[in-house]
This record gives sequence, C-alpha cells and structure tokens, in this order.
Amino acid sequence: MTDAPAHGFDTLQIHAGARPDPATGARQTPIYQTTAYVFRDADHAAALFNLQEVGFIYSRLTNPTVAVLQERIATLEGGVGAVCCSSGHAAQIMALFPLMMPGNNVVVSTRLYGGTVTQFTHTIKRFGWNAKFVDFDDLDAVKAACDDQTRAVFCEAIANPGGYITDLDAISAIADEAGVPLIVDNTSATPYLCRPIEHGATLVVHSTTKYLTGNGTVTGGCVVDSGKFDWSASDKFPSLSAPEPAYHGLKFHETFGALAFTFHGIAIGLRDLGMTMTPQAAHYTLMGTETLSLRMDRHVENAMKIAEWLENDPRIDYVTYAGLKSSPYNKRVEKICPRGAGGLFTFAVKGGYEACVKLVNSLEIFSHVANLGDTRSLIIHSASTTHRQLTEEQQIAAGAAPEVVRVSIGTENADDLIADLDQALAKATA
Ligand SMILES: *Cc1c(COP(=O)(O)O)cnc(C)c1O
Repeated sequence: MTDAPAHGFDTLQIHAGARPDPATGARQTPIYQTTAYVFRDADHAAALFNLQEVGFIYSRLTNPTVAVLQERIATLEGGVGAVCCSSGHAAQIMALFPLMMPGNNVVVSTRLYGGTVTQFTHTIKRFGWNAKFVDFDDLDAVKAACDDQTRAVFCEAIANPGGYITDLDAISAIADEAGVPLIVDNTSATPYLCRPIEHGATLVVHSTTKYLTGNGTVTGGCVVDSGKFDWSASDKFPSLSAPEPAYHGLKFHETFGALAFTFHGIAIGLRDLGMTMTPQAAHYTLMGTETLSLRMDRHVENAMKIAEWLENDPRIDYVTYAGLKSSPYNKRVEKICPRGAGGLFTFAVKGGYEACVKLVNSLEIFSHVANLGDTRSLIIHSASTTHRQLTEEQQIAAGAAPEVVRVSIGTENADDLIADLDQALAKATA
C-alpha cells in the first residue's frame, strides 16, 4: 500500500511503511535478523558508502525491519522521515546532536519526564551543551531565555507526569522568531492524540517504549522530522548546512533537502553514536502500532472515569488529569489533543508520603513499576523513585511532589481498577 495521506489513522497505523516481503510475499513484516547486507558489486558498495544510493550496508545504520517502523511513525506524525534508536533518551540525544555545538543551549520546559530533567541538567553538560529550564506557561520567560547560543526549544506535548498540556502553537511561534527548531516529546500523547507538527514543531521525539509498543516489552526511541525547517537560513546549524568532512564535503541540507535531518541522523548519528534499535525491538513496536488508536481510546475513556471517581473521593486531595473540567489545562485539550488528554495523571493522597507508599504497596491489579503506556495499569510514587534525583523544588515543578502518585491507566475493566484503588486507599488512609 502507498502511504497516501488520504487514508485514515486506523488504516495507516497498520499499513504505513509495510509491504509484502519482496522475496517471500510474507504479509507480516519479517524480522530481518542480520547485521550486514551483500553488495551487488564494488560500484554498488561505493555508491552506498558515498550516500549516492540509498540501501542497506550494516545494521548499526539501517535495517529493513527498523526502516518499516521509521516510515510508519513518520507517516503517523505527518513528518517526512524518522530515525529510530535504542531508547527514548537516545532519541533526545539524536535530536539535539545535529543542532548543538559546545557552548550552545536548548531552552526546555520545567515540566518534563524526570529522567529527561536529569539528562538535560547533568549529562549533556559533558558535551558542552546547556539546558535552560523555563516555565512554558510564561511565554515572555521562554522568549527571554532564547539567546544567540540557543539552538532548539524542547517540551512535552502532554507532560509526564503532571497532566500538563503545552500550548504548542504559542511555543512554536517563539521558536520560529528565534530561528530555531521546536522539538516536542510526544511520548505521552502519541500521534493519535496529538500531532505536534500541525502545531509548528520541527522535530518530534518518542520513547517508543511506552504507548507505541504498548505492552511493556522493549525499549526504543524515534526522532521524526517535519522536513519544514530551513537549516541554511542562518549559520546556526553547520552540521546540516556546511560541508561534512566525513562525506567528502557533502552538504546535507543542499543534497537531501527536506530529508537532511533524517539522513544526518542515520549517516552520522547512528554511524558514530551507535544508539541503534534492534530489528526485534522494531518488530514488537510495529505490532504495537497496529492497535494504537484502539488502545488510546480505551486509555482515555478509563482515565476519565477513574480521574472523576478519585476527584470525588474524600481521601484524595486533588487530581491533575487535564481531561477534568477542574484542570487549568482542560481548555487546551480541545486545541492540542482533541481526542483526549491521555492515560496518565497524578493524584495527591491525604496523608502524604507515607500514605502514598502504603497505597502502592496495597494495590493488586496496578503494578508498581517505573514505566508507563502499558495495557496494564501502572502506578509509581515518583518522589521516592523516578524523580528522587531531583530537588523538592524540581519535584514540585515537574508535578511529582511527595504526596503525589502517578498512574498510567491501562485498558482493563474500569470498574475493576476503581475497586482496586478503593480497597488500597482504605488501607493507605486507615
Ligand atoms: C520514558 C520516557 C522517556 C525516556 O524514554 P526511554 O525509552 O525510557 O529511554 C522520555 N520522555 C518521556 C515523556 C517518557 O515517558
């Protein structure tokens, strides 16, 4: 099937990128479990290595199973190309790598996945990069943070874990004005609920570990390029606009046009950083994408029922689900993620830190794990786990205060989940 944009999401999530295997006719995409590919002859090999012909050389760079997933996610996001890699955190480095040089900075939202806050606060400094954390509801502060060393603006569409929705249109306008790309982590929303490129994002990153795979089996990541950014409009992005010494002075933007970022991600990023997705991981994630819309509809329906039930329970202080009328971000749902605010939210238990610990210990259907976006319902006390490396101030800014637990509502029967929460809250607040 061709990936004609006329097809609906439910069709594309099954068919985009996939075609019957040319050798066997296999209908399902085979797992191409191979590291290398035989060249037709020496000229073919030379053309591949010079990037004059697109094909398969070595699975650190490209693999046919991974290539199907790349095309599928790019199509679902409305981008021109995508690069898959070994995890969501790898995807974030792969997104920044072509843009940043030592001394450059990225302007980032304070409301981010805890691991991303740590990666941006500490680890990227080793590359000479710097992250400037800003409250993305304060548009003047975002504008003011962009300086002549800024090379990107970064946020999450639906921010993990606090039930926060970013005004992507307003933020992308600021990035445009600063002449830098907006990178949106769309992990919590998925392209079914939110399409950041339609709101002005240049790049979309994913932890495919979560909803795209959907069953908690493999880690993976992806960077999708909108193909819309003019990398040659300034001298800010020499990796994409200036001659590349490792490819005989080839200029990626001039040579590959809208696919410059994608080609760079494979030919330089994966080649030299080696954060490669395995064909097995791509297979599990391809299986997951086939049912994405069905699962997301159920995640949203269940999350809404459970958030409403919790909000009316006297043992609960507050619930942060953006789908609730009481949420300050409810007004952004219609604009940013009209099919619903996702399956992830936090709630505060009366009784604080101790009650939260008892709650997670007493649940039977919910699993206490550091993951999200599974068909299974998951819970975590962020302050004592994923967000434990952060200061209390950072925890509160990220929506992970000590009295708060985060739930990732699964696709089970909602009444069963409510009964489980009810019995565990009785123990936690006894
Ligand atoms: C999990 C997650 C990441 C990191 O992804 P990994 O696959 O665990 O490396 C990044 N951003 C968000 C929003 C996440 O939920």
